[in-house]
Amino acid sequence: MADIVDKAQQLEDLQRKVALAGITFYEGEPANYCIKCDSKIPTQRRRLLPGVQTCIYCAQDLEHRNKRYHWSISMYTN
Ligand SMILES: [Zn+2]
Repeated sequence: MADIVDKAQQLEDLQRKVALAGITFYEGEPANYCIKCDSKIPTQRRRLLPGVQTCIYCAQDLEHRNKRYHWSISMYTN
């Protein structure tokens, strides 16, 4: 029972970090190949991030673009 609770806690922590970082979090079946560059998504990444659709490199690139986008938006809204 503790294992299930621990795993749920880990998943919750991960989802919180992802949400706070502004990273896109997918639900459902993970993709075998990155939707952006077609490279194979490692099994461990697919297991850790349910519904993941991108490889780590494309995810970092998207995250970087997202931060720049939020930064540019905040320039106009603050
Ligand atoms: Zn990729």
